[in-house]
Amino acid sequence: MDRRRFCRTALAAGIAASLPLLKACGRSEPPVATTANTSIRGISLDGAEIELERAAIRELGDSMTGPVLLSGHPDYNGARKIWNGMHDKRPALIARCMNNQDVSNAITFARERELLVAVRGGGHSWPGKSVCDDGLMIDLSQLTSVTVDVDEKRAHVDGGALLGHLDQASLPYGLVTTAGVVSHTGVGGFTLGGGYGRLNRKFGLAVDNLRAATMVTADGRVRNVSAEEDADLFWAIRGGGGNFGVVTEFDFQLYPFDRNVLSGSIIWPIAQARDVLEFYAEWSAGLSDEMYTGPAMATGGDGAGMVIMEVVYAGDPAAGEKELAPLRALGAPIDDGVKMQDYTVMQTQEDAAFGHGIRSYAKNGMVREWTQELVDTMIEAFVQDPRMAMFTHTAGGAVNRVDDVDTAFPHRNAETMLSVGGGWSDPTMDAEAMAIGREWFSKLAPFTGGYYDNIQSNPESVASNYGPAHERLVRIKSEYDAGNLFRLNSNIKPA
Ligand SMILES: Cc1cc2nc3c(=O)[nH]c(=O)nc-3n(C[C@H](O)[C@H](O)[C@H](O)COP(=O)(O)OP(=O)(O)OC[C@H]3O[C@@H](n4cnc5c(N)ncnc54)[C@H](O)[C@@H]3O)c2cc1C
Repeated sequence: MDRRRFCRTALAAGIAASLPLLKACGRSEPPVATTANTSIRGISLDGAEIELERAAIRELGDSMTGPVLLSGHPDYNGARKIWNGMHDKRPALIARCMNNQDVSNAITFARERELLVAVRGGGHSWPGKSVCDDGLMIDLSQLTSVTVDVDEKRAHVDGGALLGHLDQASLPYGLVTTAGVVSHTGVGGFTLGGGYGRLNRKFGLAVDNLRAATMVTADGRVRNVSAEEDADLFWAIRGGGGNFGVVTEFDFQLYPFDRNVLSGSIIWPIAQARDVLEFYAEWSAGLSDEMYTGPAMATGGDGAGMVIMEVVYAGDPAAGEKELAPLRALGAPIDDGVKMQDYTVMQTQEDAAFGHGIRSYAKNGMVREWTQELVDTMIEAFVQDPRMAMFTHTAGGAVNRVDDVDTAFPHRNAETMLSVGGGWSDPTMDAEAMAIGREWFSKLAPFTGGYYDNIQSNPESVASNYGPAHERLVRIKSEYDAGNLFRLNSNIKPA
């Protein structure tokens, strides 16, 4: 779909239209740069300027099935852009990989020169980790195929596929696995960091459903990892992010699923926030695994504040109606859109609100318990500004039934992941909008412990955030990436 049409469709998309996040769809292209003759400028892993010989780059290009894109190539600007418009960076070269060998060749090229590497899956890194200035971008954006093995209930998913590709491939077979809430997010970063979605209470996080992967490590070797092969690596990539190599294929467990689900959003005016949040704080402690719902607080296009509760009930609709009844009976909603509908309606309803190219900033933290103090603070902290909103990702259920160190994902006892984030299009608003987000989140932060590093990067607290998993992660990092080639992520430093 072209970008303008995407924006228009977005504007028609109900609640999405009332959120502030899509105004940046008309972002303009920066001018195309020219390059020197025999070499181009690169940057080393430790930040020093290095020369990259054109002949060597040509050799890399010749060795690959996909192209190597340099500044000035017609596809260069499109390839370097990632979702968050705040990160406008220009890699020295972009290796557009089509297979494992391409990835291996690109890794070897970078390792031999100690060249800075960024790995781009779906390009949705909030802090912009999938692009860099003057380094090599390993671009997986063309690797998007998904194959479903119906008998085995497995999805084989390419490393650059988007969550929408996964849903679209599995649902026609009556199968599903946990995918996130915006369908143009990449499977790659999403899964490697944990992977929350509307089905996580029933089926667990994406990492809990990963059964095997194919990856290329810093030595250029292609490895099949699973509980049986390279088990340490397999453990590490289930939460440890892109620290250990480039994953070219993810194999997920799928589950039988009726795609016609009881789902939708209920919206109340902000004046009813206390009733809704106080009710939710108590009621949510007894939710069934099938029920996914959690509050967001946002400002609509008309400037009015609202509390929004998204609902997906992954089970018998009659049981869902019964469980949901007390929430629906609460106060006087502006809208109650919960009904039987195709699962993909929910899975795509926020796509436009979170359109490509917006300038975005987010902070988050893990909440273990809904307390009265948290509810009071949420209400006091709410900022009526269409650029910022508060969101929750409800966990619990199957997410919490996995032991802390069974995977490298460290936040098993959180009931919800709470974030404050937003979007705007005008770069002159950056400082102000980010300050609003920071201030808002700072009031909620005392109620959180640890954070989801798929949403924000805190280099100084990586170790404490991984908690008991960190020591093992360091050991595995030291074994497979002692030179820290893969460092543009929540970086685990080798020993
Ligand atoms: C609009 C939006 C909605 C989101 N919704 C959710 C949600 O519902 N649930 C949730 O859990 N998270 C969500 N997130 C957070 C999301 O999980 C992270 O932003 C994630 O990193 C995105 O993955 P990506 O492949 O698109 O990102 P990229 O920017 O491509 O990469 C992010 C990081 O992962 C690494 N990486 C990516 N692919 C690979 C690969 N194949 N092999 C090795 N390393 C790789 C990159 O190097 C980088 O460090 C959302 C983010 C956005 C922007």
